[in-house]
Amino acid sequence: MSLDPKRTVAELKELRALTGDENGAQRVAWTDTWLKAREWFASKLTGLPVERHYDAAGNNWTTLPGESERALLLGGHLDSVPNGGWLDGSLNVLAALEVLRRFATQYGGRPPVTVRLVDWADEEGARFGRSLLGSSAFAGTHSIEADRNRTDKDGIRLEDAVRRCGFEFDHFPDAQHERQNAAAYLELHIEQGPVLERLGLPLGIVLGTKGVERYAITFHGQEAHSGSTPMNVRQDALAAAAKLALEIRPIAMKHPDAVCTVGSLKTFPGIVTAVVGRCEATLDQRDLDAGVLAQMHREAREASERFAREERCTVEWSRIWSIEPVPFHPELIRLCEDAVRETVGTAHKLPSGPLHDAAEVARSGVPSVMMFVQSLQGISHNKIENTLEEHLEASVVALDALASKTVEWMMR
Ligand SMILES: [Zn+2]
Repeated sequence: MSLDPKRTVAELKELRALTGDENGAQRVAWTDTWLKAREWFASKLTGLPVERHYDAAGNNWTTLPGESERALLLGGHLDSVPNGGWLDGSLNVLAALEVLRRFATQYGGRPPVTVRLVDWADEEGARFGRSLLGSSAFAGTHSIEADRNRTDKDGIRLEDAVRRCGFEFDHFPDAQHERQNAAAYLELHIEQGPVLERLGLPLGIVLGTKGVERYAITFHGQEAHSGSTPMNVRQDALAAAAKLALEIRPIAMKHPDAVCTVGSLKTFPGIVTAVVGRCEATLDQRDLDAGVLAQMHREAREASERFAREERCTVEWSRIWSIEPVPFHPELIRLCEDAVRETVGTAHKLPSGPLHDAAEVARSGVPSVMMFVQSLQGISHNKIENTLEEHLEASVVALDALASKTVEWMMR
């Protein structure tokens, strides 16, 4: 069997039929449909000279042993959000399977290095709100210890949902053993954004995942009667927050890839007859460069204080969550450029706004890189998520070329 990208597309459709409904993909982690997808995947390995096992955190490893124990890792995730798309995560897994088959055939079952495919557990965090769970366990991220008590909307604890699938939270740290001999990690993913489509490009090279700073910002003013309070004495907390919501646009647009979002504004008392006494805003800022991220944070903070003063209000900031930028490996980025250029002619580099398992893997010290394939209309996490079949096929070819180049690089 040589590389057959059309088979990848056919298998994606098979998986969609098996685990989706009229609302989209339903492979939410730790559910029966997700387990069914994983069983289906295992059935695809029949006849391949591979070993398969689940690690302590529920990541699904398929290993093609090579002459050397040093391992090339190819990753993805079969889990989806509820009513998700047919490509997010599963393209990565099935393209990697095709590459694994090609290695097995070309080298008579024993490639020069070990090739391992990993289907990460619970990348999406859709049910319990904890993304990248399996890859975090692999990476040894300590914060997951506290995640066991998270509950879903029915009050079921994550620890119990995990146990139902045969895994114990206490043993999650053992997943780190899989890092042994890992020499490189490659991940193909749909872009989930509009950049490649707007450039008319099928594929892109991902420079890294953006760092994120997420804050709750509260403006305090004075509730007052909307009829009796003159305009020039109001302490309108919404007015200050609204100014900030507009100001973050020029703050972000000084930098080519930076984004800032005020995703939520809540007003109190929130009635038609009162000036807003308190306004709670959220701010999400992202960039690949830690310096840019720090500058945007500083500028947003200064602006919020200025607008608070102008509106006779006060403002306070509290951090919700943050993660540093994770740049990918420079040499693998170069190999990825070569693979993409050879496949489609143009090699465009871009950062990733969404987080991916590759960020956890890279943070744990394994040289990593990602490749994006164009998303139609930039839409994902939705049943209308789509990519042209010719682009899907090109992505399999390019991932395969990158895998070969990476093996050569590992043997140097
Ligand atoms: Zn994904």
